[in-house]
Amino acid sequence: MSRSDYEVIIGLEIHAELSTKTKIFCSCPTEFGGAPNTHVCPICMAMPGTLPVLNEKVVEYAVKAGLATNCKISRDSKNDRKNYFYPDTPRAYQISQYDKPLCEHGNIEIETNGDKKKIGITRIHIEDDAGKLNHDDFGGGSLVDLNRAGVPLIEIVSEPDLRNAEEVESYIRKIKSILEYIEVSDCKMQEGSLRADVNVSVHKPGEPFGTRTEMKNMNSFRSITRAIEYEVERQINILEEGGKVEQESLRWDDVSGKTFSMRNKEDAEDYRYFPEPDLVAIKLSEEYIENIKNTLPELPESRKQRYLEKYNLSEKDANIITASKYLSDLFESAIKVCNNPKAVNNWIISDISRILNETEMEAIAIPFDGNQLGKLVILIDNGTISSSIGKKVLTELFEKPRDPEQIIKEKGWIQISDESAIKEVVMKILEANPQSITDFKAGKDRALGFLVGQAMKETKGQANPKMLNELFLEELKK
Ligand code: ADP
Ligand code: MG
Ligand code: ZN
Repeated sequence: MSRSDYEVIIGLEIHAELSTKTKIFCSCPTEFGGAPNTHVCPICMAMPGTLPVLNEKVVEYAVKAGLATNCKISRDSKNDRKNYFYPDTPRAYQISQYDKPLCEHGNIEIETNGDKKKIGITRIHIEDDAGKLNHDDFGGGSLVDLNRAGVPLIEIVSEPDLRNAEEVESYIRKIKSILEYIEVSDCKMQEGSLRADVNVSVHKPGEPFGTRTEMKNMNSFRSITRAIEYEVERQINILEEGGKVEQESLRWDDVSGKTFSMRNKEDAEDYRYFPEPDLVAIKLSEEYIENIKNTLPELPESRKQRYLEKYNLSEKDANIITASKYLSDLFESAIKVCNNPKAVNNWIISDISRILNETEMEAIAIPFDGNQLGKLVILIDNGTISSSIGKKVLTELFEKPRDPEQIIKEKGWIQISDESAIKEVVMKILEANPQSITDFKAGKDRALGFLVGQAMKETKGQANPKMLNELFLEELKK
């Protein structure tokens, strides 16, 4: 089989739940969770005779997303009915946008292995989310929970510009980062507030694009990568055996590592789109769009430039920090307190990132604030604690955030910088390790490191390491 003869073509439809307080067409709360069918009203339950009213915030958030992704904002837009029968959609249609989406013709830049590439954004439109079917709890039956029905979504449709799983991951991360910066979605992938339909096809370069299949509702990078690999392999096998790829919607199953057919893909005409008669057209003035433009915050790209120029961070570190609004905000507020960008950078890149990884925590969930991180840096800078005690303080900040000064008092972690106390420890360690003294005198400098290590152990990391070094040297040279 000649896999390398094929080019892979990928386009994404990303759905992001907007973080408005209320739903798109009624005033029910959008809050995640809650007992089934408690965040509902006659409108989002689709009782006959009810009428939707468009939540203005939804338009504002979608326009923000459009501006932040270099889209043209439509002055004249509308909602359309997308008809389909499924029990999670009580109206039997979704209110979406068809031929006049709010935003079109945008692009964002992604980076993979140092290479930059523009990915086209075809459109961004607004629509309502469906309810949720619970299949598990009741013998054979399904129960519908409509808490999520009517939660506002934006759908961001990309051009088929992506070529492999790395580009897909980089693209999703960039979209996630932009939406976090402009504060229109909390983008929690695990809770499904950011999810992607991944469209994949293969063709031989020079020939027209192949038929695509669409893997619905993917919300983890690992699954997306595996699913793309599987699907590319599957499609190439079909073509190599002389078959035809069917256009269909697929479900990726993480356990078996395979895709399964959900249904033959509807074409647009199957949905019988028509203009939503219960809502008026969305007309936006120049002034309205200009006002939103003026509220846009600094975006990741520009923050990154500032970190490179003003704080001298490495490109790699600046990328990591600015990719997450929450890490970047933490950085900004911490350096205001301690005025030591290099140290804050190091804490974020090494220890904080490590703990986030180990505990699978998203940056948004970091429990302490920049003020506390800044104070931690100050305590190390002014010699109150060593950096190894600093690490223990950080662990405390993750567990039970409070003032670092209070933590070290409570725990008795103040650095020992009293010369006579340190001298005492030095003498004790030397006495217990005569071999190290001999080693040092024989030219083995490593012995000093060992002795300092023992002294740190003895003082549970509290001795001032600089003073330890000096006093050991003094004694060893006698
Ligand atoms: P639908 O709602 O029917 O899925 P959309 O136009 O909303 O259609 O989305 C189509 C998605 O599929 C876009 O992201 C587009 O980039 C992508 N796409 C279109 N053609 C191909 C193709 N041949 N291979 C892979 N992706 C494709
Ligand atoms: Mg689709
Ligand atoms: Zn409601």
